[in-house]
Amino acid sequence: MTQSEIADTLYRVIMISICLAKSRERDMTTRTHRQIRCQCGHTGELRHAENDQPFSSMWEQYTVDGFGGEGATFTNVTELLAAGDILKYLNPKCPKCGIAGAVSYA
Ligand SMILES: [Zn+2]
Repeated sequence: MTQSEIADTLYRVIMISICLAKSRERDMTTRTHRQIRCQCGHTGELRHAENDQPFSSMWEQYTVDGFGGEGATFTNVTELLAAGDILKYLNPKCPKCGIAGAVSYA
């Protein structure tokens, strides 16, 4: 192989890698959910989404479905650790009995 052929091959490999990375971008978010239950029996879901794309900034997002209260997004590990127990941190409010923070994993 001549030097220009090697350069051309490398260029193609790089372009293919970029295309593959771009086509995967949309699928690089991992989503999970867990059922949660209030002490009164009302149920909902704790939803979690996280960025799994390598070499990009970290983020994790938590939202509650079926309960009141805001979700939370963490962009670094320090914030996430400082939050402690996510369910306690989010303090979801039950729409049925009106009590906040009486929620546990179902
Ligand atoms: Zn309740």
